[in-house]
Amino acid sequence: PLRPPESPPPSLDAVLAERFGIAAFRPWQREAIEALLGGAGRVLVVAPTGGGKSLCYQLPAVALPGTALVLSPLISLMEDQVRALEARGIPATFIASSLAREENGRRLAALRRGEYKLVYAAPERLALDGFLEALAASRLSLVAVDEAHCIVQWGHDFRPDYLRIGAALARLRPPRVLACTATATPDARDEIIRRLGWPLPAPDGAGDGGGDAVSGRGPEEPPPKVILRGFARPNLHLQVSAVDGPREAGRRTARALLEALGDPGRPRGAGIVYAATRKGAERLAEALRDAGWNAEAYHAGLAPESRARISAGFADRSLSVVVATNAFGMGIDRPDVRLVVHAQPPSSIEAYYQEVGRAGRDGGPARGLLLFAPADIALRRRLCQLGEGGVEASADDAARAWGLFRELLRYVDAATCRHDFILRYFGDEAESLGGCGHCDVCLEVDALEASDPAALARDNDLVRRALAGVARVKGGAGLQAVASMLIGESNERVRRMGLDRLSTFGVLEKKSHDEAMSILRALLANAWIDLTTGEFPVPLITPAGWRVMRGDVPARVRLPVPAARRRPRRA
Ligand code: ADP
Ligand code: ZN
Repeated sequence: PLRPPESPPPSLDAVLAERFGIAAFRPWQREAIEALLGGAGRVLVVAPTGGGKSLCYQLPAVALPGTALVLSPLISLMEDQVRALEARGIPATFIASSLAREENGRRLAALRRGEYKLVYAAPERLALDGFLEALAASRLSLVAVDEAHCIVQWGHDFRPDYLRIGAALARLRPPRVLACTATATPDARDEIIRRLGWPLPAPDGAGDGGGDAVSGRGPEEPPPKVILRGFARPNLHLQVSAVDGPREAGRRTARALLEALGDPGRPRGAGIVYAATRKGAERLAEALRDAGWNAEAYHAGLAPESRARISAGFADRSLSVVVATNAFGMGIDRPDVRLVVHAQPPSSIEAYYQEVGRAGRDGGPARGLLLFAPADIALRRRLCQLGEGGVEASADDAARAWGLFRELLRYVDAATCRHDFILRYFGDEAESLGGCGHCDVCLEVDALEASDPAALARDNDLVRRALAGVARVKGGAGLQAVASMLIGESNERVRRMGLDRLSTFGVLEKKSHDEAMSILRALLANAWIDLTTGEFPVPLITPAGWRVMRGDVPARVRLPVPAARRRPRRA
C-alpha cells in the first residue's frame, strides 16, 4: 500500500472550519481529498446521497490555486450549490442554456480571467467550442464529475452528454479528477471508470492501486482510487420472511406496522410499503385501510394531482402509510419512517437498499421487512422481460435485470449477517458490523449460540470442510460432482474426474447429497464460493471463503436446518 505517512497539511481543517463552517471531516472525506491532492489525483467517491460528496471537490477547489470545473446534470443542483458557495464568500458560477447568451459570455470571460474558484456546467456545454476553449485557456485546479452514474448507458439516469466527458478530460488533461456517485453496483462503478478513460484498479486492492500486476493499465492514466463508504445503517433492523402469497403478505405487513408504529389512530412515525405492481399496491392499501390504517396507494398510474396530494399528505404527516411501487421515493425525505416493508421482493439489492434506506433517517431505530412468496420469483421474471413502461425489454436488458434480481435472491437466502451481505455486495466491507445484532440471521445465530453452541460449532465445521473440498477440486468439477465428492459418493463421474482420490473425499460423509447441495448453496449465497460463468459453471473458493476456511473469521452461519433439528417456533 502506498499510503503517504505524513498527516495532511493542517490547512485543510482550517479551510473546512473557516470557509465551510464545518467542524470535522467525515473520515472518508479526508481520505478522498488527500487522494485527490496527493498521489494519483484520480478519485471515484461512492457514498449515499446526503453523505457529503460535494465537499470532496468544493474544499480542494477553494484550497488549490486555479478554477475547478464541476460537471453536473441539473441546473437546479448547480444553482443550489452556487448560491450556497456565494453565501460563504466563495466565488462560483454556473454556465447554462437557461441564461441569456450575453450573460454566459460574461461568465466565460470571467472564467478566462480566473475570477472563479468553481464553475458549474452541464456536460452538454462540452460540445461547444467556446466553452472548451475557455477552459483550456484557464488554470484548472480539478474537474469534478457529479452524479457520475449518468455516464452508464444501461443505467436509469443515463445522459448521452455524459459520454463527452471522457474526450474532454483527454483534451483538457486536468491535474485532478474526482467523480462522485451514490450508485454502488460494482458493474456501474467499472463502467464509470472505463468511460472516464481510466484503467480499472486491481480487483482485490481496495482501490489502493498498490499492486502492479494489473493488465491493461494504460501508460498515461493511473487507475483511480475508489472510495466507497457510508453505506452501513446500524440503526436499521433487517429481516427477510417467507410468506405463502399476497394475503399473508398483507397480514404480516399490518402486524409489522402495528409493532413499529403502534396505534393506527395515533401512529408514532410513518411506514412505507413497496409492492411490485400497481394492482398489488392498490390491493394492499385497501387491506391496510381495512386494518384501520390511514394508507394510500401511490404509483405511476395515478393522476399527477393524486400523486401530489399523497406526497404532500405524507410530508405533512396527515398520511402515515404509503403503499407504493418504486415510483415513490424521489424527494421523499421524511426522517421518522420507522418501517419499510417490501411486500414483494424488489428488483435488485441496490433498489432494496435505497428503498429500505428511507427508514430511520433520523438515526432512531427502524425496521426493514422483506417478504417473499414462491410466486414472486416468476412474477419478477415476467417483469424483467416486460422492461420499463411496458415496452418489451431487449434480450440484453432482460438478462441484466434478471441477473440483478438473482443477486437479491442470494440476499434472501443468505445464511450470514444481512448487513454484512449488503456491505460486501457494495464493496464497503470496511464498515462491516461483524455480526451486527440488527438482523434476523444474527439474532438466530446468537440464539443458537446461547441455546446450542455445539450445533453452531458443528455448522462452522461443516462450512470449513465444504470450503476445503471446493478449494481442493480447484474448479475441476461442477456443483453436483463436488457434492458427491464431499459426501464420499463414488459414482462413475466422480471416479472419472479423480475426485475419489482427493483428501477431501467424504469429508461430509454423514450428509445426504441434498444436504451437501444446500450447504454449497449457502456457501454461494455468502460469496464464500462463486460459480464461473459459461456453459459448464464450476465453483471456486473466493478470498472471503479462504478466510473462513482458514478460521481467520468464524463462519457464524445459519445453515438450512435439517428436519431432525427443526424445533417448533413461535409464529
Ligand atoms: P451528497 O453530494 O453526498 O449527496 P452533500 O455534499 O450535498 O451530499 O452534503 C449533504 C449535507 O451534508 C450538506 O448539507 C453538507 O453541508 C453536509 N456535510 C457534508 N460534510 C459534512 C461534515 N463533515 N460534517 C457535517 N456536515 C457535513
Ligand atoms: Zn446481522
